[in-house]
Amino acid sequence: MYDFYSDTKTRPSRAMREAALEAEVGEQQKGEDPTTNALCDRVAALLGKEAAVFLPSGTMCNQIAVRVHCDPADEVIAERGCHIFNFEGGGASAQAGVSNWPIDGDRGMFTAEQAKAAIRQTGRYAPRSRLLCVEQTANLGGGAVWPVQQLDEVAEVAHEAGLATHMDGARLLNAVVASGTSAADFARGYDSCWLDFSKGLGAPVGAVLAGSADFIDKAWRLKQQMGGAMRQSGVLAAMGLYALDHNVDRMAEDHRLARQIAERLAQMPRVAHVIMPDTNIVYFDLTEDAPDAPGLTEKLRASGVIIGAFSSRRIRLVTHLDVDRDASEALLAALANNLE
Ligand SMILES: *Cc1c(COP(=O)(O)O)cnc(C)c1O
Repeated sequence: MYDFYSDTKTRPSRAMREAALEAEVGEQQKGEDPTTNALCDRVAALLGKEAAVFLPSGTMCNQIAVRVHCDPADEVIAERGCHIFNFEGGGASAQAGVSNWPIDGDRGMFTAEQAKAAIRQTGRYAPRSRLLCVEQTANLGGGAVWPVQQLDEVAEVAHEAGLATHMDGARLLNAVVASGTSAADFARGYDSCWLDFSKGLGAPVGAVLAGSADFIDKAWRLKQQMGGAMRQSGVLAAMGLYALDHNVDRMAEDHRLARQIAERLAQMPRVAHVIMPDTNIVYFDLTEDAPDAPGLTEKLRASGVIIGAFSSRRIRLVTHLDVDRDASEALLAALANNLE
């Protein structure tokens, strides 16, 4: 099967697993796992932050960040399609007790003026605007890359109004590879930021959340509370270190492949609209006379290609290190067959 469903579908390579075999390990909760410590130091430096903590998932990074930054009844501002609002089971409301203030952005991104308009004036009645979040890259925006200046301006508006800022950097390194801007520069206006190792970096599990030393101290307490304690996590961290050494620059190939697929899709009958990708995520919409997206997805699966139906008309596909040109030719042929 050629699997374009998500970059979470990558499997750890033999060389990556060998890195795990060799890892020195210890009890992470006691700070005694040298490999995990090395990964945290490396990510903190990469993101230009004081400290970092290794967590089981990106979702836990977001959840912990919201809880550190907010008190119950505070309000979180972010783009309407963001992961925190849509794909974390309502966790921010359940665990941090916050409410959501969605901004309708453009490809998952918004402007400083929109941020300013979303921040409430202080007063007795309204909830307190407390945290502004951005996603780099913006997943539902088609892996869109925020320009660094726009990120800086949005962060400045938030900080001026006394809000904290958080960057969901699940695919931040895709943005780095696509733009040439450093991760630290993208993250410089953000009080907390994290990277996911289980997406395009190709590791099986794990994410690292970074921020000030004080922020990370607080994050550790919540990690414990949420059952995020890990013990000899060096086997996982070693795969993360391997990913940073070997799987970052190559993401340029994923981006090239995504763009080629998008350009070919745009020529196909019954394709109404393609969001041209900045990075590795392609969304396209089917015309009214095409099969519906779930039906098309089923048909493709029968010919050995997996893609995601996002709604009745919208399809998502993602390139990553386990799909190559042959896979994309199989994908395009199967789509052409079913859309003619
Ligand atoms: C995948 C993803 C997450 C969650 O990461 P997990 O490691 O799957 O929990 C958060 N934000 C974005 C933008 C993502 O794409």
